[in-house]
This record gives sequence, C-alpha cells and structure tokens, in this order.
Amino acid sequence: MKRLIQLLKKDFKSFSRKNESERAVLESFFFSAYRGAFVIRMAGLQKRSFCLGALFIQRGLLPNDLSAQTMVKHEYGHYIDLKKLGLIKYLIYVGRESVKSGGLSKGEYYNKLRGEASADFNVGIVRSASSHAAQKRGNEYINRIAQASYRQLLKEYFSRRRKQKNSDKAQPK
Ligand SMILES: [Zn+2]
Repeated sequence: MKRLIQLLKKDFKSFSRKNESERAVLESFFFSAYRGAFVIRMAGLQKRSFCLGALFIQRGLLPNDLSAQTMVKHEYGHYIDLKKLGLIKYLIYVGRESVKSGGLSKGEYYNKLRGEASADFNVGIVRSASSHAAQKRGNEYINRIAQASYRQLLKEYFSRRRKQKNSDKAQPK
C-alpha cells in the first residue's frame, strides 16, 4: 500500500500534460500524459492497449522497449483519429474492426485494418517496406468517414448489406 502511494505521488510529480516522451509514459504507474492526451495504465492482464478518449496503456512494459514506445505512438495515432471522427464513428469504423480482427497476423493487422493503418500514418510509424501505401489508404478512408454525414454512412451500410444478401442468394449451397 505504501508503495502504491509512492508510485501515485511519483506520477503526480512527473505529470506534464504536454509530455512528448514515450519513455516517460512507460515509466508511469497509474497515469501520465502524452502530447495533450491523458494516459491511464492498466493491469498487465489485458494483452492490448487501446485508445478511448484517453490512451489506455498496459503496465509492465520496459521504458526502453522500442516496441512499447511504438505502441504509445500508435495509440496516440488513434487519439488523433478519434478527435477527427467523434466517439460514435470511431467505435463503429475503428473499434469494431479491431475487436473482430481475430486470426490476423501482426503485419496484416496493421496493414489491412484501415483504422490501424491510419493510426500508424498519423504518427509516422514504419512497420515494413510496403506499409506506407496501406497507411495512406487507411488515412484517406478515415478522412472520408469523418466528413461523411451519418445519413450517407447509413445509406452505404444498407446498400452493402443488400449486395451481400444478393450475392449470398446467388451462391449455390
Ligand atoms: Zn491500434
């Protein structure tokens, strides 16, 4: 308990809303901030970090770990898109895709999922030689969703569903 209070005090002391160091984020235990976004550290049980208004970053990562630093940047990339999209569109077009992504390799996850690729694009993460094109496509997609009205998006959703149903019918079982 005493240790937790010490850690809490430490987080308060080093807290800086405009902090730009990924390492400082990873050194925090309860909370910190990154480029104006609030960061909450989560118990290490959950394997994945995520962005939902604040950046939720799992605990137990080493401050020097480059892949952990990249993850902080990546979550901030989501934060930029979240601000652009608003929460509802973000949950539908970025969150849903990510939750349903079981079975993808890491490379596929960050290239094929447009919300993931766009997050990387926002912060300039290079994952492979071919990742930039996918990131650009992802970012263009997110920008289009951000600008589209809900009415337009609903229309697209129902027309996609209709097409899907028709093609299901056309296929002999
Ligand atoms: Zn992500």
